[in-house]
Amino acid sequence: ILDWSWPEDTGGRKDVSFTVLCKRCRQGQRVCEACRSNVRFLPRAAGLQNTTVTVGDLLAHTNYTFEIEAQNGVSQLAPTMRQYAAVTITTNQAAPSPVTVIRKDRTSRNSISLSWLEPERPNGIILDYEVKYYQKQEQETSYTILRSKGCNVTLGGLKADTAYLLQIRARTAAGYGASSRSFEFETSPDSFSISSESSQVVLIAISSSVAIILLTVLLYVVIGRFCGYSKSKQPDEKRLHFGNGHLRLPGIRTYVDPHTYEDPSQAVHEFAKELDASCIAIDKVVGAGEFGEVCSGRLRLPNKKEICVAIKTLKAGYTDKQRRDFLSEASIMGQFDHPNIIRLEGVVTRSKPVMIVTEYMENGSLDSFLKKHDAQFTGIQLVGMLRGIASGMRYLSDMGYVHRDLAARNILVNSNLVCKVSDFGLSRVLEDDPEAAYTTRGGKIPIRWTAPEAISYRKFTSASDAWSYGIVLWEVMSYGERPYWEMSNQDVIKAVDEGYRLPPPMDCPAALYQLMLDCWQKERNNRPKFEQIVSILDKLIRNPGSLKITANTSSRPANLLLDRSSSEVVPSLDTMGDWLDSVRTLPCKEAFSGVSYSSCDTLPKTSAEDLKKVGVTIVGPQKNIVSSIKALESHSKNGPVPV
Ligand code: AMP
Repeated sequence: ILDWSWPEDTGGRKDVSFTVLCKRCRQGQRVCEACRSNVRFLPRAAGLQNTTVTVGDLLAHTNYTFEIEAQNGVSQLAPTMRQYAAVTITTNQAAPSPVTVIRKDRTSRNSISLSWLEPERPNGIILDYEVKYYQKQEQETSYTILRSKGCNVTLGGLKADTAYLLQIRARTAAGYGASSRSFEFETSPDSFSISSESSQVVLIAISSSVAIILLTVLLYVVIGRFCGYSKSKQPDEKRLHFGNGHLRLPGIRTYVDPHTYEDPSQAVHEFAKELDASCIAIDKVVGAGEFGEVCSGRLRLPNKKEICVAIKTLKAGYTDKQRRDFLSEASIMGQFDHPNIIRLEGVVTRSKPVMIVTEYMENGSLDSFLKKHDAQFTGIQLVGMLRGIASGMRYLSDMGYVHRDLAARNILVNSNLVCKVSDFGLSRVLEDDPEAAYTTRGGKIPIRWTAPEAISYRKFTSASDAWSYGIVLWEVMSYGERPYWEMSNQDVIKAVDEGYRLPPPMDCPAALYQLMLDCWQKERNNRPKFEQIVSILDKLIRNPGSLKITANTSSRPANLLLDRSSSEVVPSLDTMGDWLDSVRTLPCKEAFSGVSYSSCDTLPKTSAEDLKKVGVTIVGPQKNIVSSIKALESHSKNGPVPV
């Protein structure tokens, strides 16, 4: 969406209009070419009366320059050069198109070597390829996944004389692209043997190769011993370990639970780079974590530019378990690579203090950031932040990782307003969250953010993360307000179970409130997947006009829950005073439709004399209703409310 300001000088005429010219600029080339004709301009590219245009159908990860020229009826007659304002942008990365060309390089009795061409539209920088293969006759019930950074792979440990089916998909920072079609390959038969003349040559070749490999391994071990461990094992091609290397689950799981490692420190070094403490300079303390202070500082690695980092430290006197739990966060974070997930730079485990070093997020956690900037962002900016969080969560759910503690306090914001999901861990996830409370079943859970099935029987899934996402959506749109205000955890559980949901925050676009309600569906399979959430938010960003339709709450108290089953339209009143008047004059049911904590039919008499005096009987946790009315009083523009 391009916006520009009106020209300073309209030439004394009223017939000013604007024309937008689109150019595509390839990296490293000075000359740009005109954009392809299928780039769409809404409402149009020329003769624009307003100072905005939406440009669609652009290519991902591409540089574009837009030139905006103001013209009037005599522009054609002006002898001077065209005058315009120009802006150059790079579109975000997208998932790559499928791999279409795969070639068999070599086959033996138990291995196949393959190579392939990069997808036609990489749509970004290809991070790696996922190769999935299985025996044809087993029909995908058991398959193996390999990851390769390059365009070739050797599948080993195969059965002789057997047909295998294989699919490849590429990944950019935006996620995986679609899989290629299935390609079929066969290993050589058991009886296959090399001819006698060539056997000697082959034997010599094999012995030399074995000798070279042994020498390389020896050298590697020796160098490793003398130079210290500097980087985790990051082979070009990484086999994921699922017991015997085969995955017998439907779906693809690429996140590896560090608990599955007998020795958790092995997991840390598998996924995190060991940093030398001398490369880290600590500047100041920026926060407090469960295990010690969080500091800001700088990391300068040899031959690399210095970068700002956050440094989490493990305080002295820790137990073995605390050290393990502290480092488990790094083992998890180190497996992720996405622009909306906090990036791990490395760990310091071989000297003290033990540290986890991550990218630095200048604006700290999202909840406090929003509170500090109450009502200061445009709808598009808020949706942009929410889109980032959803995209990070889509990546995590694709990886098979369930966060369990998604909340605005666990999102970090950088200086460009990019939001990143943080706070990963195993047992500690909920231990260090001050919001987490013990449930009757013993677990510690952040009640206000957690889906009912996760609270009642610990069913944590990506669908329960989607519920929490709905709460984050509410937190963002209300600039960091506390979900369910001062209600007790028990009252929240009860109210949610009875079907009540948080009302829309002030001026909340109706589409976003609908998305919240969808995330808070009781039936978890009906909640949107993160993929869908991202696409809904993308549509809103493309069509910012849609954000103007609000859920119409400005005239009513924001801190009463809504009955999900109530579809009645909220009465539109201009001031808080009007609302209170209407409460007093309308029959109870009408007055409270859509705004009450409970329906009037089931209102038992409350003993609150204060409320009786205004002729209103309300049920629900009484102290909350009373304090809600008090909150109304203090916010009322019309002075004290006669309670
Ligand atoms: P945590 O233990 O991850 O909840 O971190 C505690 C606090 O430290 C957060 O609430 C942030 O204020 C701050 N913090 C943590 N990580 C970072 C980071 N990468 N950049 C900036 N501040 C951070």
